[in-house]
Amino acid sequence: MSQFISVFDMLKIGVGPSSSHTLGPWRAAQQWIQKLKETNEFLLIEEVKVDLYGSLSLTGKGHATDLAVLLGLSGADPEYVPIESIDVIISDIQNKEQLFFNNERNIPFLKDSVKFNREFLPFHANGMTFRGYAQGEEISTETYYSIGGGFIVQEDDHLAEDIEINKQNFPFPINRATELEAYCERESLNISDIVYQNELVINSAEEIDKELHRIWNTMLECMYIGCHTQGTLPGGLNVKRRAFETHQKLIKDAEYTNQQEWITAIRGTEVKFREILKWVSCLALSVNEVNAALGRVVTAPTNGSAGVIPAVLMYYLVIENHDADFEHVKKFLLVAGEIGSIFKKNATISAAMGGCQAEIGVSSAMAAAALTELLGGTPSQCLVAAEIAMEHHLGLTCDPIGGLVQIPCIERNAMGAIKAINAAELALETNPKESKVPLDKVIDTMWETAKDMNRNYKETSEGGLAVTVRLADC
Ligand code: SF4
Repeated sequence: MSQFISVFDMLKIGVGPSSSHTLGPWRAAQQWIQKLKETNEFLLIEEVKVDLYGSLSLTGKGHATDLAVLLGLSGADPEYVPIESIDVIISDIQNKEQLFFNNERNIPFLKDSVKFNREFLPFHANGMTFRGYAQGEEISTETYYSIGGGFIVQEDDHLAEDIEINKQNFPFPINRATELEAYCERESLNISDIVYQNELVINSAEEIDKELHRIWNTMLECMYIGCHTQGTLPGGLNVKRRAFETHQKLIKDAEYTNQQEWITAIRGTEVKFREILKWVSCLALSVNEVNAALGRVVTAPTNGSAGVIPAVLMYYLVIENHDADFEHVKKFLLVAGEIGSIFKKNATISAAMGGCQAEIGVSSAMAAAALTELLGGTPSQCLVAAEIAMEHHLGLTCDPIGGLVQIPCIERNAMGAIKAINAAELALETNPKESKVPLDKVIDTMWETAKDMNRNYKETSEGGLAVTVRLADC
């Protein structure tokens, strides 16, 4: 059965540093509260405890999972909470050992109320259990799993959800890349047109435009903030923010007062090969520095890989096509979202399940296909681009130092963005009929590789750089 995953499921506005370890747990806390309300238990709860399991526990401190849970339990929404209020909410809870439960009433919340458990739950590597107590009795126990990209499920509900979503009548049900390609061929349409027709089943044209505008504006703002903020990232690794200085060197004395003028200013800068490399890298770094500083980003498809898509889209806007407008942005995001959803349906976008190939590899494939369409490639060439981008990320492990989404994560976004552009150019010179590796095969390979990958390399910080370079040594 084909699942429908909207482009808005793949590109979600949230808060850094991690979609699976921050956004997912945050959403799970919100969902638990919603359930308590439905069962009329919310007002009975006098105490709350949370257990984090597996990868959520092993890298939870560095990924701010405990803080995300506190924010969710406080009733803050990751899309809208003012970033500057986050510290205030957290320190209030920690100092008073009291939680303003769902922004409605105070309950005690002791320092050890969020427990980090090393064991893994069998269903998924990112498990968490919320427990609610009344008069000393545990009256509510709910376990959620954060399955990547901010998606959360409970063990028994995801099949039911899929069935509910699939009752809708989508003109182009898509599970595999070959199906998408066949629709494009049969209808003589681009990938973005096919995706748009499906999206129209669940959202009006106005809603789609409005949401895509919001997503793009969030990406743009994120790059802007990242390029104009200096200092050191939080967490103890003492990583210096690099986008600021690189941006200063590239933009020189160009004048601008807002983000739109900034785009024009960049278009006026020198863009030889080296400058292009530096611009793309700088834009990718800027997003992931904001992400690492718990700023607002768009999961694309995850927070750790949030820099690839904005950087490649900006590359198109400021280097490739100075006349580009929102229609180009829209096409790009529609294609990217669909490619990401095919990876999610057939493999994973969770580093705890598949390592970094599932994050940076997928984001690079999404960006490569989207760029190829904007550069005039056929739908088949777009799929070739996605395949090339993923093929050369296969096996990439996840080993963040100190469990922080900083090293290797931030630079890795620059590499993923450059590879996406390279993959698009290679695909544009490829006859898809002569391509030996179809996208679906590379997705299957990625999933097999994910299953074979040692647990130490799946967002546990128990292998790779996280072991050879210790936080204490930095
Ligand atoms: S190494 Fe890759 S997958 Fe792991 S946290 Fe960093 S960006 Fe995400």
